[in-house]
Amino acid sequence: MKDLTPESFVVSAGRSRVPGEPLNVPPVLASNFYLPHERIYARGESTPTIEALEEIVGGLEGGRALAFSTGMAAVAAVLDGLPVGAKLAVPEDPYQGVKGLVAAGEEQGRWAVTRIHLADTAGWAQAAETSDLLWLESPANPLITVADLPAICEAARAAGTMVAVDSTFATPLVQQPLDLGADFVMHSATKFLGGHSDLMGGVLATRNDGLHDQLTERRTLSGATMGAMEAYLATRGIRTLALRIERAQANALELATRLEAHPEIIKVRYPGLPNDENHAVAKSFMNGFGPMLSFETAGEGDRATRLCTAARLINHATSLGGVESTMERRAVIPGQETIPPTLIRFSVGCENVEDLWRDLEQALQASK
Ligand SMILES: *Cc1c(COP(=O)(O)O)cnc(C)c1O
Repeated sequence: MKDLTPESFVVSAGRSRVPGEPLNVPPVLASNFYLPHERIYARGESTPTIEALEEIVGGLEGGRALAFSTGMAAVAAVLDGLPVGAKLAVPEDPYQGVKGLVAAGEEQGRWAVTRIHLADTAGWAQAAETSDLLWLESPANPLITVADLPAICEAARAAGTMVAVDSTFATPLVQQPLDLGADFVMHSATKFLGGHSDLMGGVLATRNDGLHDQLTERRTLSGATMGAMEAYLATRGIRTLALRIERAQANALELATRLEAHPEIIKVRYPGLPNDENHAVAKSFMNGFGPMLSFETAGEGDRATRLCTAARLINHATSLGGVESTMERRAVIPGQETIPPTLIRFSVGCENVEDLWRDLEQALQASK
């Protein structure tokens, strides 16, 4: 990794380069292996297919990666490492699955939770003094808020508090939380790493060998190991990550700019816009602004639903991170009632930007 740019590394890493072997590690469809050998059973020792993906993501993040069956399985592996009674600080509005998992553990008395606005850097620094783990998500789903990761990681380091960053919206190309001082970085591989809306997976990376060992043990015991086909597809998908992100974030900036000037749009949230409240912080440490934006239409909540339905090129669907653009009204999701009623989360894909814009314009017109 040291002498390669990330663009070349995603293409070249995770290959055996042994004469006679295939260029791509094939899907190893196996539960068990001939003994004696250190690779015994796939749930515990995983497979070469999973390890190829881990080599790529670990190299991009500058740590050692572990692949999980879903993003939420990766989140759970971090939280399960907390001792009973631990103090956990989380964003007020994290990804809904994380929100639910944290609340469920709180109800069971597993941990005490402090909830902080993602942009409240002083609040996070203060929480670092009394917490065991800060769970951050940046940029955040679906308000696209950016946390001041360098400042928060520094405060946590000084206080001896661990930091985990859900970096799904940024991908390893846009930010490297481990470099900024985080202990864990997490990705839903279901999204940009896989990039084709055809798999579920999660990845965690850390620089700490002790933490890596603990996570491996938890993955084995909880049975959250990634499947062979998923690992194969995620590796195939990640080969084009740099190309996809380059196109998608260029599209996102252009569409955010045009949406902001549209009379039927009351707010656009995209850190790449110079007047976005997160612009300065994002610019200070991110390499680009990512492909995720959200916007609010004029009118009632229903208007936003009609707009999503009227789109012909952009897919009306949940989830994000595929080559194809998707958009969805978030306030209708259970647990997301605090989200502005007409807010639409837009995962900008790799289509031609003029086609995307024409589609948005006609859907805005048709949904009036
Ligand atoms: C989708 C998502 C998750 C959960 O990942 P799954 O693969 O769906 O389990 C976590 N965080 C963010 C930001 C996500 O978008």
